[in-house]
Amino acid sequence: MHRHPLIGYLATGGTISSTSAGTGTGVVPSLTAAQLIDSAGFDDNRFDVIAEQAAQLPSASFTFDTLRTLDRRARAMVDRGVDAVVVTQGTDSLEETAFFFDLTWDSPVPVVFTGAMRNPDETGADGARNLRSAILVGGDPSSAGRGPLVVVNDRIHAAGLVRKAHTSAVDAFVSDGAGPVGEVVEDRPSYYSVPARRPALPIGGQDARIAVYRSTLGDSDDILRHIADGPYDGLVVEGFGGGHVAEWQVPAITGICSRMPVILTSRTGGGRVLESTYGFAGSEIDLTARGVIPAGHLNGLQARMLLWVLLSRGAGPDDIRGAFSTR
Ligand code: ASP
Repeated sequence: MHRHPLIGYLATGGTISSTSAGTGTGVVPSLTAAQLIDSAGFDDNRFDVIAEQAAQLPSASFTFDTLRTLDRRARAMVDRGVDAVVVTQGTDSLEETAFFFDLTWDSPVPVVFTGAMRNPDETGADGARNLRSAILVGGDPSSAGRGPLVVVNDRIHAAGLVRKAHTSAVDAFVSDGAGPVGEVVEDRPSYYSVPARRPALPIGGQDARIAVYRSTLGDSDDILRHIADGPYDGLVVEGFGGGHVAEWQVPAITGICSRMPVILTSRTGGGRVLESTYGFAGSEIDLTARGVIPAGHLNGLQARMLLWVLLSRGAGPDDIRGAFSTR
């Protein structure tokens, strides 16, 4: 007998589940996994769904423990034979969860993330449609082996490229420099391209605290000195332009490099950091000569996540440098 695709669904809260108690105090995560699945409108039972409530949070309050929980529960669903895992979460930190899975997921079973920009109380709410499209993507055999995906506004994005780029629009998610890898039309996904992925690095058991410092015009080295003395295991610098900091910050960064990995990204949010063009104090050549590790095309959030995954595995300096030099 032909069986329906089996979808493992993990609900975690976010706008897609947020309704108001009618007291004028704003919407909060409340709809359950079962209610959300019902809203996706599959009256024809074309999918079998195992629905689980993995959390009920605004996604700004996700932690690395939340990511570990999602990783464990998604893997347990694969062990139960699902054809895809679909995760709904708040859009605020969705790109970080999706990138975490892009780094760590080593199964051909697709993991598809979605959420909503408009809550279910709003006219034109997009959550039910996004969940429907995410399930359609996950349940289609053409999605297997493509790595984790993000489906929002009927666009399919590679989890390694996607970013939230608007506070409220339904097309808030973009894949800079590449565009979506596919789209959902008339209830069917179709793909234009295959996302490039680095080999998966399943998470390890250690924890790590990673600071992010964003360069701003005229800033002193106070924040960096605070980080140097703080409880951190790593630092990501979102430098100016091609990967630059103010010259008076170089001694502080050099000191931090002797204590923990320091990763260089660009605050521009697009393009690779440079490695061999500028020679002034605080330039990419100066910083890398002092031990700073350039992050290639990864933005600050992505670099922080990769460093966290590496440190969770107990990676040493050579492994860290090697992982960031993968193109
Ligand atoms: N605005 C958010 C959302 O899209 C709230 C959150 O991230 O939980 O779901």
